Amino acid sequence: MTFELQNTSLGYPGHIVLKDVNYSVSTGEIVCVLGKNGAGKTTLFRTLLGVLKPISGKILLDGKDIEKWNRKHFAQKVAYIPQARSLPFPYTVKEVVLFGRTSRLSVFSSPGKKDELIADECLDMLNIRYLGNRIFTQLSGGEQQMVIIARALAQQPAFLIMDEPTSSLDFGNQIKIIRQVNDLKNNSLGIIMATHSPDHAFMCDANVAVVHNGTVWNTGHANDIVTEEMLKEIYGVKVRVKNLGNNPDCHRKVCIPMV
Ligand code: ADP
Repeated sequence: MTFELQNTSLGYPGHIVLKDVNYSVSTGEIVCVLGKNGAGKTTLFRTLLGVLKPISGKILLDGKDIEKWNRKHFAQKVAYIPQARSLPFPYTVKEVVLFGRTSRLSVFSSPGKKDELIADECLDMLNIRYLGNRIFTQLSGGEQQMVIIARALAQQPAFLIMDEPTSSLDFGNQIKIIRQVNDLKNNSLGIIMATHSPDHAFMCDANVAVVHNGTVWNTGHANDIVTEEMLKEIYGVKVRVKNLGNNPDCHRKVCIPMV
């Protein structure tokens, strides 16, 4: 399945934020969206989620304009994970994950055995089944974010849209979330993730879409796109990009800020 922007301009009344965007993401792909503050990442996500109408052009999910999708069916295909923050869910972890099944239930039905099994599978996928009976609000930020990801997976979506899923998490939890995103890569799931760390694109062996100068400025695989020149251009800072090459623990590039 594909999620596609066709000749799209997006923004707000009287203020085009991104112009002439042509870009397509497929299931099985991880795309990291990079761009400085105010570049238009949130505007892009709000538009992909159908909260904001494109100013011109079309957004197609599975070849069909998202404006023509029934909202419930759309919610079965596209799940959203907000920035890590404490959400006021005074429920158990299992209940929070079961809420993810809502778009799959008919109006008056409540979750059944199958939904419970799927919720448990999602908790297993993230190795957090042991948290099932804990109260969500009493968990750490990192644990809460894992639960929110499990809840999104319980929707059984085709696409996960993640808005800086590691912001406000400590270093260890950031790495755990990124490792988890990596593990989720499979043929039936596409992940579109905004991040402030270009290293995340290397860690996930991801494709990259750079939001810059009022458009989706550059796209391609992280190894080709995340360069010292690109980082200087979009963030205005000097960064070395080094290949760890033959390091036995890690064969990828890393970004080293020159401070
Ligand atoms: P990012 O997520 O990359 O930090 P945003 O998408 O939030 O960037 O913002 C892109 C631009 O859109 C900014 O110039 C911002 O001021 C503007 N903007 C954001 N929200 C609104 C809004 N509700 N109305 C008008 N302009 C907005």
